[in-house]
Amino acid sequence: MNLISIKNMQKDYPMGLNKFTALKNITTNFSTGEFTGIVGPSGSGKTTLLNIIGSLDEQTKGEVEVLGYQIKRLNNKQASRLRSKHIGFIFQTYNLLPVYTVFENVEFPLLLLKELTSTKRKKMVEDALEWLGLTEKRDSRPSQLSGGQAQRVAIARAIVKKPQLVLADEPTANLDAENSHHILRSMLKLNKELKTTFIFATHDEKVIRYLRRKITLFDGEIAHDEKKEGKIK
Ligand code: ADP
Ligand code: MG
Repeated sequence: MNLISIKNMQKDYPMGLNKFTALKNITTNFSTGEFTGIVGPSGSGKTTLLNIIGSLDEQTKGEVEVLGYQIKRLNNKQASRLRSKHIGFIFQTYNLLPVYTVFENVEFPLLLLKELTSTKRKKMVEDALEWLGLTEKRDSRPSQLSGGQAQRVAIARAIVKKPQLVLADEPTANLDAENSHHILRSMLKLNKELKTTFIFATHDEKVIRYLRRKITLFDGEIAHDEKKEGKIK
């Protein structure tokens, strides 16, 4: 099933009286359960593409359909609802709230989902912390964590609501090899067990070796789209 469908998409950024075309001729689909990376050099359009898929921005031309919604037709409230219910975001800088504990940081996105009771919320946070091996750190503050632990909290926060789609922009940029492999393995486990779809923007070889599909952007266009067969290490 197509989770995301993109047709003839272009993104222009205004630049004074001119415009800069950051993405062009983008036509591709993503299915449920993919573990895919958008790769390419810095400035090739990876973040722009991820932001449009995540309804944080919208395209200039063409069609982008995410989970059955046309991104361009959503108003701010509808886009925010789509994100809070179905999409988890992981950024290069962990964006944790410094005055809150690990538990509270992970609970945060659930507070937007009014239908959840506090008992249910607590259980979901505890499950997410356990998934990421963070149960012991639940009462720590972000300043007391290593970079690897902080990024695991950010992942727990992104997956706590069990979203259909997780978008991760350079998630390992600030991590060493061991922590990078640790978080990749956690994400792969979620992908396998919950069928969560992951799309990464990355140029990190440590991430690329885990991908099952690699879309290479060059100057805002798709240069290659390769599927990897076989078992992932
Ligand atoms: P990547 O994530 O691959 O490094 P980006 O998507 O961030 O690439 O950027 C693609 C191109 O678009 C770059 O040339 C960048 O300078 C430009 N760009 C990104 N965001 C903006 C913006 N808000 N306004 C103008 N240009 C932008
Ligand atoms: Mg980027």
